[in-house]
Amino acid sequence: MSVPPTITRFAPSPTGRLHVGNIRTALVCWLAARAARGTFMLRIDDTDAARSTEENVEAIRADLDWLGLVPDGEVRQSDRFALYEAAFETLHAAGRVYPCYESEEALSVKRRIARGRGLPPIYDRAALKLTAAERHALEAGGATPHWRFKLDGAPIAWDDLVRGPQKFDGALISDPVVRRADGSWLYLLPSVIDDIDMKVSHVVRGEDHVSNTAVQLQMFDALGAAAPQFAHMALLVGADGKLSKRAGAIGVGAIREEGIEPQALLALLARLGTSDPVVPVGDSRDLIAGFAFGHMGRAPARFDPAELAQLNARTLHLLPFNAVRDRLPAGFDEPTWAAIRPNLTTLAEAAALLATIEGPIATPAFDADDKAYSAQAAGLAETLDWSAAPWAQLTAALKAATGRKGKSLFLPLRLALTGASHGPEMAALLPLIGRDRTIERLRAAAG
Ligand code: GLU
Repeated sequence: MSVPPTITRFAPSPTGRLHVGNIRTALVCWLAARAARGTFMLRIDDTDAARSTEENVEAIRADLDWLGLVPDGEVRQSDRFALYEAAFETLHAAGRVYPCYESEEALSVKRRIARGRGLPPIYDRAALKLTAAERHALEAGGATPHWRFKLDGAPIAWDDLVRGPQKFDGALISDPVVRRADGSWLYLLPSVIDDIDMKVSHVVRGEDHVSNTAVQLQMFDALGAAAPQFAHMALLVGADGKLSKRAGAIGVGAIREEGIEPQALLALLARLGTSDPVVPVGDSRDLIAGFAFGHMGRAPARFDPAELAQLNARTLHLLPFNAVRDRLPAGFDEPTWAAIRPNLTTLAEAAALLATIEGPIATPAFDADDKAYSAQAAGLAETLDWSAAPWAQLTAALKAATGRKGKSLFLPLRLALTGASHGPEMAALLPLIGRDRTIERLRAAAG
């Protein structure tokens, strides 16, 4: 039998903006699809009309786009109600969904009684025992049913791509409600119907969905479909290792505003909680090549904003001019990028460094000695061969002429030429500042 093509889907609910936790899910869906030359789909889970907004849908698309996790297609659950209705009819005809009339209060009383007796608070299936006449009487009295999926009580097992063999006892799980009394859908069943219809081969999601998988496996079966493979990823925790809500909840917007490169966020999230080291990766193709579900661990993955900031700097130092040129201020060229790249922690700093080259810069307040030194340097700068390592020539000539060395040789020059006491390598910077500006700045510093 041939292996079916890999199809993954990222299925956010547009009830809020994406956060680090669901970006990680999106990334793993994308990596799994790309590594297998398969298909990566975006599924907008917008069955909850009251809480879903168009603004969030657009923000989700924009965030994925920013990250370069571009879907091969998009579906929306709100376009697919006819499909759900048809599948629901099939399940109804097969006796796998049944109408229930209990109010939320009545159910909570039942649960309390069960707990009081030391029993698991499982739905008692009282509605299954209603006769047709009793149902009609309830409906005549104004009750509209909600609907439950009937689990078959058989043991449930699957081999999770991250968590390994999983087992659930169907007899210990309540028949889940799949449809509300107003006809609206809960998440469980539409997701299965879509996964079947879209031929999803791998469902990748957070481990908070493990118990959903147990019941969804029976839904696949009841709808006559083979279940996809499942990969449930460990939770993200904070740097302190605590299961703090904040860890995975940091928004993509905030990360973007801090000047984090998408490539840095991807490199971190692709490796967090895996057996592979977190290293800067300038090209997503390397992440794809290194991807394997088997590398993902079961232990909670630590997300540390400080590690992200550090990885951001190391990522910037790797990025070629082409990867950033659209986001750099006018005036940047390849040699300028190469000169300043090693000094950046965020790309936003590039503008300030360019300003250092282009000027105007702050003229340092030198003492008489350093003024004389600057005047001497200005004179020498006129005699240099500016086409070949001018910084090495200038400093060698000044060293010979003045006997200065180390800090007293270099620091006044850096201050006079850039207005700052630290920054990119002067050897890379000086050719970019160029002969005329060099002479002019040294003269200004000479007073
Ligand atoms: N909309 C669901 C969620 O955001 C999707 C879960 C799934 O991937 O099946 O949790």
